Amino acid sequence: MRNGIANRATYVIVGAGIHGLSTAYHLAKELKARGLGSGQDVVVLEKTEPGAGASGIACGVVRNNYFQPAMSELMQACVEVWESDPAAYAYNPVGYIALGPQVQESDLAATFERQERIGYRSTFVAGEREVDAHMKELFPDWRAQGVTACLHEFQGGFAFNKESVLGLAEKCRSEGVEIFTGVEVTGFELGADDAVRAVETSRGRIEVGEQVVLAPGPWARDFWSMLGLPPTIDIRTPDGDVVKDRPMWIYWNLQEGEITVDPTMFATADGGAPPVIHLDTDAPLYTDEGTLVTDELWGIYYKRDRHGVQGGASPLVVDGDVELDPYPSTTDVDPAFPDMWCAALSHAMSRFEGCRPLYKKARSGGVGAFTADNFPVFDYVKPNVYGVFDSNHGYKMIGVGREVAKVLVGEHSSLLYPFRFERFETGDLHPVSHSPYPWS
Ligand SMILES: Cc1cc2nc3c(=O)[nH]c(=O)nc-3n(C[C@H](O)[C@H](O)[C@H](O)COP(=O)(O)OP(=O)(O)OC[C@H]3O[C@@H](n4cnc5c(N)ncnc54)[C@H](O)[C@@H]3O)c2cc1C
Repeated sequence: MRNGIANRATYVIVGAGIHGLSTAYHLAKELKARGLGSGQDVVVLEKTEPGAGASGIACGVVRNNYFQPAMSELMQACVEVWESDPAAYAYNPVGYIALGPQVQESDLAATFERQERIGYRSTFVAGEREVDAHMKELFPDWRAQGVTACLHEFQGGFAFNKESVLGLAEKCRSEGVEIFTGVEVTGFELGADDAVRAVETSRGRIEVGEQVVLAPGPWARDFWSMLGLPPTIDIRTPDGDVVKDRPMWIYWNLQEGEITVDPTMFATADGGAPPVIHLDTDAPLYTDEGTLVTDELWGIYYKRDRHGVQGGASPLVVDGDVELDPYPSTTDVDPAFPDMWCAALSHAMSRFEGCRPLYKKARSGGVGAFTADNFPVFDYVKPNVYGVFDSNHGYKMIGVGREVAKVLVGEHSSLLYPFRFERFETGDLHPVSHSPYPWS
């Protein structure tokens, strides 16, 4: 120890968000179970505090509505972790409902069929009248238009962002992992074999015994550049064409907000906790006063929160350079968002009619780093540096750390394999859905 911080560690994990902490906790358990060591071999370095990044502002939605087989299977494993300790993870297993117009019907049906095959509990409803009846049974004031498909997942739901991160941090400490806060990683010392020998930090150099894990959330671009990895890449598409010089990192600004209401006003017909709702439709959207907001495909998601109802809409690409620090206050939601989101809530359920004045002006939303194909990269980026770059999919992906821990001790993870970096070169990309969101 020097300055209260380790000067050597077997495993160095950078970032105390959902992925860094989940990796640290599961690695500690793996090392112990295999007689290879313990949590005392693992340190986490965090420049601010646990949950200071995207994990601490995430809406917290946990769902498995993924059209891509690999995402769906990985998410099933993640939900297993959420369900393993709902209290520590502040997890609310209320379920999740995705509703879409005709253009999304086949995607949602395919997603449901896969969920059935892998044993993820859900149901699928097709047809405008049938969907309306399914929703009215849960919410008698349901009135959304243009919806012809409904995927109702009985697993999933949401978790309270900061609390789940703190719950994970506590689990890490109970396994002997040290979390050093206020320590910023500033660079890496590479050996002749390109492996990282030491991590340079604002509090000095930390020698690396074995491996480094990077779980930097929105700061992915900065670590990519610190390691000398290319800012643009060529991508082979599945039909063999090569798209040249695509930016490796793209930033999107996530639009989120909340209304202050008695949370229990958003309940199911029998007074129960409501599932998270995700509604996409091409029905024209009007404000309560009758002004047209949009006549193009639009979407929102919302959930019951501690002090009201919280949710979001489609994100917006951030043009040009994005300033990340101090996160997340360098960006804000589009000024048009509150009108749109409140109109959409009212379009969905009459209980939200007139909710616009209840919109809370508070820090909400933030930016996320997306990869060149909008899917995570989980892979070694140097011989002893594993990168958890989740392309902003990932608060819900609490189980990725469990898989990474297995990889660190030498196992293969078939769940992480589809997310290897090499896919950009081989064209082994993930299928793309009809959703307007970059994370579906
Ligand atoms: C507004 C918003 C809403 C979202 N909603 C959802 C949702 O509902 N469901 C969902 O599944 N996902 C959601 N996401 C995505 C999700 O939040 C992220 O994908 C996930 O939290 C990333 O976790 P992480 O651990 O990789 O990164 P982070 O939580 O960002 O953690 C990275 C940590 O690294 C630290 N760090 C950065 N640089 C350094 C450095 N140089 N040295 C030391 N430490 C450093 C940061 O301080 C930070 O604490 C949302 C994202 C945003 C922005």
